[in-house]
Amino acid sequence: MADVTDLVEKVRSGQLRLHELEDHADPDDAATVRREYVAGETGADLETVGEYSIDAADAEPNIENMIGTIQVPLGVAGPLPVDGDAADDDYQVPLATTEGALVASVNRGMAAIRAADGANASIVKSGITRAPVFSVADVREAKEVADWVRENEGEIAETAEETDPHIAFEEVTPYVVGDSVFLRFRYDTGDAMGMNMVTIASRAASELIEEETPAELVALSGNLCSDKKPAAINSIEGRGYTVAADVFLPHDVVEERFHATTEDIAAVNTRKNLVGSAKAGSLGFNAHVANIVGAAFLALGQDEAQVVEGSNAITSLEARDDGLYASVTLASLEVGTVGGGTALPTQSEALSILGVAGGGDPVGSNAEELAEIIASAALAGELSLLGALASRHLSSAHEELGR
Ligand code: NAP
Repeated sequence: MADVTDLVEKVRSGQLRLHELEDHADPDDAATVRREYVAGETGADLETVGEYSIDAADAEPNIENMIGTIQVPLGVAGPLPVDGDAADDDYQVPLATTEGALVASVNRGMAAIRAADGANASIVKSGITRAPVFSVADVREAKEVADWVRENEGEIAETAEETDPHIAFEEVTPYVVGDSVFLRFRYDTGDAMGMNMVTIASRAASELIEEETPAELVALSGNLCSDKKPAAINSIEGRGYTVAADVFLPHDVVEERFHATTEDIAAVNTRKNLVGSAKAGSLGFNAHVANIVGAAFLALGQDEAQVVEGSNAITSLEARDDGLYASVTLASLEVGTVGGGTALPTQSEALSILGVAGGGDPVGSNAEELAEIIASAALAGELSLLGALASRHLSSAHEELGR
């Protein structure tokens, strides 16, 4: 047992740095020392931050300088029936959020999907990308490098795949800008979201390319990947899972659940999600997919910064003779059920609500199932918000729930 008071004093006097505490105390005591030090320096009361049920040692791969945890309320919406390529069940979907009315709204959309016999979902493309940037002398050399890469994909694939038994090379696409060459690698990473895996694999492939061509690696990420930044390349080419979910709602279901007509809801979608988004120069042609992706990512141990590309979605609605057709297509949903934050005990429990914690059998099936569930939950969220807008019910719903 470490002497917490003594260690706090050593940090205060500069004898120890915050990140050195694990050399002198177990991870929980180290967190306590840091918390007491920060509380003392700032006057903040950190009692609640210090009350957590996980073992700080479990969080060591996920955080440095840990002082405690932030608790985000966790709710559940469902059941959500999904018939997908990997998903095939009625799901209770865990959502962590501080936005009142969000879970209720998604739940309402799910009730409509249930009344319509469930959502369909499909993964239309998959593969996580990394795009290193190389420097060359001029455009002639750039062309030489791009040609070599195209002609030697087999050798590049072999080199990349040697780095991890769970990685499979899919393709590499060269992009040239003057004396810069970008190589956008795409890999299958099984049940992992894959960013660490593809970074390591792309480093190995880049070393081969440096040996065999005049190209010099400038940076392992050249921003054409494109990770955690809004980027048209992800909307067009996809990243992670390109996943679509749809449902057909007969007129009576639409009217009973949303107190609006099929035509009115479809008109809201056209003018808001399509015309409005186009006028705004938006990449997201949807109502609030980020809400569902964000809440699911927080609950399920995903990389929350990837909500940027995860919410890159188009919602399309069509008023048909017998009802409303609705779909949501997420171009670049990066999710995994192993690695990253998925092994943290609370996040792992949340994944187990969906039956997708850990590696799938066959490999990759758990991550695919998760992608299809999130897409279907996003569809529920879109339907509910568009329905609320069409019935002019949005502000009263927030008022009723007191926020
Ligand atoms: P990871 O945490 O590196 O874990 C992936 C490892 O899990 C694989 O290497 C594999 O190792 C093992 N594994 C076991 N069962 C598996 C299965 N069924 N499918 C796939 N892998 C399996 O995960 P990651 O997804 O590559 O990286 C996620 C982390 O990267 C997150 O923490 C994220 O925040 C972070 N991140 C990194 C970067 C970066 O540039 N490095 C960028 C963005 C985010 P074995 O094959 O040896 O079993």
